[in-house]
Amino acid sequence: MAKIGFIGVGNMGGPMAVNLIKAGHQVKVYDLSVQFAENVVAQSQAGTGSAHIVASPQEAVQDVEFVISMLPSGKIVEDLYIHQQAILKSMSAQTLVIDCSTIAAENAINVSNAAQALGIHMLDAPVSGGVGGAVAGTLTFIVGGDQAAFEKANPILQNMGKNVFHAGASGAGQTAKICNNMLLAVHMIGTAEALQLGVDNGLDAKVLSDIMLQSSGRNWSLELYNPFPGTMENVPSANDYKGGFQTDLMNKDLGLALEAGLQSRSTLPMGQLAKSLYALHGRKGWGKKDFSSIQEMFARDEDS
Ligand code: NAD
Repeated sequence: MAKIGFIGVGNMGGPMAVNLIKAGHQVKVYDLSVQFAENVVAQSQAGTGSAHIVASPQEAVQDVEFVISMLPSGKIVEDLYIHQQAILKSMSAQTLVIDCSTIAAENAINVSNAAQALGIHMLDAPVSGGVGGAVAGTLTFIVGGDQAAFEKANPILQNMGKNVFHAGASGAGQTAKICNNMLLAVHMIGTAEALQLGVDNGLDAKVLSDIMLQSSGRNWSLELYNPFPGTMENVPSANDYKGGFQTDLMNKDLGLALEAGLQSRSTLPMGQLAKSLYALHGRKGWGKKDFSSIQEMFARDEDS
């Protein structure tokens, strides 16, 4: 069993760390919020591994074989590894860094280059599958970095996910991930729009969802993450859009997609519209709620 330092145990990192502990690994847990680290310890009591809360990121990365991070932004990741906390300097060259945050490929490559200069290998390994996938251990990992590091990381990633893809060299995982999330934003908005159209014309949202699930409108949002309240249990729309994947984070990912598209001179009309709609939704106070709350943008006022 491996010794692992896990940094950032929020909505996603928390259940990922719990699954590692349940699989028998020894995990040092660090988060800016001690409460989140304590949640991990509380939820992994039944596991065969061990969880140990540490007081600093430097402590988390000492005497471990793997460092895994799950953080909100590229700036935070660069600060942590290279600049402010500079934890790369506290690691041995044998440690393999696996950053699972969704960040720009450029940030991932910067950290990878800084690591390489110290003889440390680093993979970008963003995930797809949401909080449900993190809890169930069925995430998809989309990995960028060299083949030998990928093979070393694979068994650890399998403890948290079902599908592990090697997308290419350093940064390739992030590029694939933002393509996926741009498409996710587009089909989530399209799903919300179609459901509201049906309801406005007298249909029941659940009945319409069942019909579209067996028709050509079928998609992931409809199948596993229905945005219309009352259609599905155990999803954010059943819980006042709490938990899940924040609108602010979707906005960040769409920004990353548009920046990448600017550099590659790609045409992104749907991505641009999705970004505008999610930016507006965030400004209207939905930033901390799950991104499926975009359904509310289409909702009809009681008296209209
Ligand atoms: P979150 O805000 O719930 O968790 C982030 C955690 O990082 C928080 O607990 C925060 O306290 C901690 N943190 C922030 N700065 C830190 C630092 N310097 N040192 C230590 N801890 C720090 O966010 P999340 O939903 O878990 O998302 C994390 C990453 O996963 C993001 O990059 C997001 O885009 C990506 N992601 C999220 C989902 C989802 O459904 N939530 C799905 C796929 C990918």
